[in-house]
Amino acid sequence: MNEIDYITPKNLEEVFRAVEKKKRKIKFIAGCTNVIPYMRGEAISPELLIDLSSLENLNYIREENGIIAIGALTTISKLTASEIIRNQSPILFSAASLLGNPLTRNRATIGGNLADASPAADMAPPLLALEAFVHTKRGEGEGREISLDKFFLGPNKTVLAEDEIITHITFSKPKDSARGIYIKLGFRNSMAISVVSIALMIEMEGKVCQKARVALGAVSPTPIRVYRLEKNLEGKEIDQEIIQECSVILKEEISPISDIRASAEYRKLATSVLFKRAIQEVLKGEKT
Ligand SMILES: Cc1cc2nc3c(=O)[nH]c(=O)nc-3n(C[C@H](O)[C@H](O)[C@H](O)COP(=O)(O)OP(=O)(O)OC[C@H]3O[C@@H](n4cnc5c(N)ncnc54)[C@H](O)[C@@H]3O)c2cc1C
Repeated sequence: MNEIDYITPKNLEEVFRAVEKKKRKIKFIAGCTNVIPYMRGEAISPELLIDLSSLENLNYIREENGIIAIGALTTISKLTASEIIRNQSPILFSAASLLGNPLTRNRATIGGNLADASPAADMAPPLLALEAFVHTKRGEGEGREISLDKFFLGPNKTVLAEDEIITHITFSKPKDSARGIYIKLGFRNSMAISVVSIALMIEMEGKVCQKARVALGAVSPTPIRVYRLEKNLEGKEIDQEIIQECSVILKEEISPISDIRASAEYRKLATSVLFKRAIQEVLKGEKT
């Protein structure tokens, strides 16, 4: 292994000063729960590790004027301990509670989960369903605000430049009438990485669905929103016929792969079953 330098900047200015001076391959690190296994497996070979974990001003959960903002360095454990997340975005709370094991959750950050861009990343489907934005910074200039559905490009690929960091994530507080659910299908012997996951949010007026947001994990090269399915739910009374139509749409919209965790065929079937379960639960009025 080549020699690796390691620095722990105390603020964003120090981060960007280090980045400017770089003549080497840099890698930002936060909780390191992805980076260390990648380095051990020689999937990556950075020359300078820039540890963001001392940037305390990127570690917060706030609610202001109907917007929930989460600093990129916020750990998954902190999300599960937050009253704001539990009460205002239960689907994110559920997803955080289901990520990995307690040791992993204590180190893993929300920014690292999104930047790693695993198709199975547990933070992605709920944040897609919440129509979240990723806020970034690069050097001294203005930051970017990227809609999460434009953020992922492929497995472990995002629109982030090598020297661009996620500072925070925002989304609007869901309406009181919104109901949602996150369901993850995983297997214990695979460290509970999702085989399929679904986040569903709907707003009902009487029996009619006013708004639907459906996002999936582990069934495409990136986590995805299923726009066609959302359109098929909106403005309609949701009955068994609509649910059946949606199941067909789902199978057409996803392109899962076969891997050690499951076959593509199994994933297609499981997605359809999970969707039916999710919609039935939210129609029962569960706010999970
Ligand atoms: C035992 C185990 C179980 C796991 N289970 C799950 C699971 O069930 N579900 C799941 O989704 N994941 C799981 N993971 C993966 C991992 O824990 C998560 O993806 C975690 O959220 C990554 O966050 P991190 O802070 O550790 O990222 P790091 O490993 O530090 O970084 C990951 C990537 O993000 C980049 N990065 C980090 N922070 C920033 C930032 N602020 N701006 C720009 N780039 C940044 C890094 O450069 C790197 O490319 C598991 C991992 C392990 C080891």
